Amino acid sequence: MRRVSIFGATGSIGQNTIDLIARAPGEYQVVALTGASNIAQLARDARRLKAEVAVTAHDHLLEELRAALAGSGIEAAAGTAAVTEAAARPADWVMSAIVGAAGLAPGLTALEQGGTLALANKESLVCAGQLMLSTAKAHGARLLPVDSEHSAVFQALVGEDMGAVERVIITASGGAFRDWPIEDLAKATLAEASSHPNWDMGQRITIDSASMFNKAMELIETREYFAVAPQQIEVLIHPESMIHAMVGFRDGALMAHVGPADMRHAIGYALHWPERRDLPVDRLDLAQIGQLSFRAPCETRWPALRLAREVMETGGLAGAVFNAAKESALDAFIAEEIGFNEMAIVVEEVLTQMSATAGHIDATMTLDNVARVDHVARQTARAVIHSRAG
Ligand code: NAD
Ligand code: MG
Repeated sequence: MRRVSIFGATGSIGQNTIDLIARAPGEYQVVALTGASNIAQLARDARRLKAEVAVTAHDHLLEELRAALAGSGIEAAAGTAAVTEAAARPADWVMSAIVGAAGLAPGLTALEQGGTLALANKESLVCAGQLMLSTAKAHGARLLPVDSEHSAVFQALVGEDMGAVERVIITASGGAFRDWPIEDLAKATLAEASSHPNWDMGQRITIDSASMFNKAMELIETREYFAVAPQQIEVLIHPESMIHAMVGFRDGALMAHVGPADMRHAIGYALHWPERRDLPVDRLDLAQIGQLSFRAPCETRWPALRLAREVMETGGLAGAVFNAAKESALDAFIAEEIGFNEMAIVVEEVLTQMSATAGHIDATMTLDNVARVDHVARQTARAVIHSRAG
């Protein structure tokens, strides 16, 4: 039996992963499931999948988790350190689906065990791409992309020579405000930003899709994962979300990956790789769909894309600053402290301030330095948010 663990099991990606695992009883031994505040869900899935251990990231929820698991024989643990410790338990395949920079330490620990890490947590690559890749290499671990665009690029590259790649195009639906007049964006509400036209995802990534911060992170993710130059990566607005990415080769060919907007495809591809197996996703009827459309992204509407290019240009720990500032700005938007357009303004201001001080962005990429820079970026973001709100 394959031993599997799921980090962020209670979230959107985690639940889709559990859906696939639960369809194949007897094939998988579930080692660890982790979550945060949804204890009922975590305990229910741990019991259903007969996990060895269930972990909540919140210390104060340990007793609640213990009570929910009473009589099951499943171990309960709590706290950030316990989540990372769970990643040290031997497993063949680990899903990294925690949202945010909190996914980095468990992901690195899982890579140190030398198995396969299916990576949905794009923040790890944005904050510490080189560290993730070098850790995988040092321990003979495999890192497989789960983001739909990156899984699509990975699939388009099977059997190809990276030297023949001219460009990589990742598509974006354009999110909730694709067709809004630009002047209305400043007034966009939390509820309006929290609904996605095509994908059913967690709230944070849904808002990041509306602001295009999600695509900005994916630009950096593409650069880190596939080692292509920033100028070789393009973003294309594709409202139907059916082509997830395309790879352009030096002979002019474009290989496009087409499929329904269902994350179980990318998760299932990473689960069964290098094989392809039946997956419970819809089959597209292209004659019925009739046409697909494309347009260039507008950097005035979505300044996050420009910021991502600046981050790639700067390198070092700029990605860690970018991600932490974005997480803080998103928290402030969710708390309705700042408006929709202010998220990008906050992130840019934090990048500017932290670039002006030595020892942050130019520090060596270690987990400690990434954590320190992340902390300073969040503090800086809070100060910027406070000054704007005041
Ligand atoms: P979600 O909000 O639905 O779930 C997040 C999970 O992380 C939950 O299990 C939650 O309990 C856990 N969590 C939250 N904060 C935590 C913390 N501080 N410590 C430990 N655990 C914590 O998010 P999601 O939409 O499933 O996204 C998960 C990751 O996958 C993100 O990095 C996202 O960018 C990426 N991703 C998601 C999708 C999608 O379709 N949802 C697609 C591509 C990539
Ligand atoms: Mg994506």
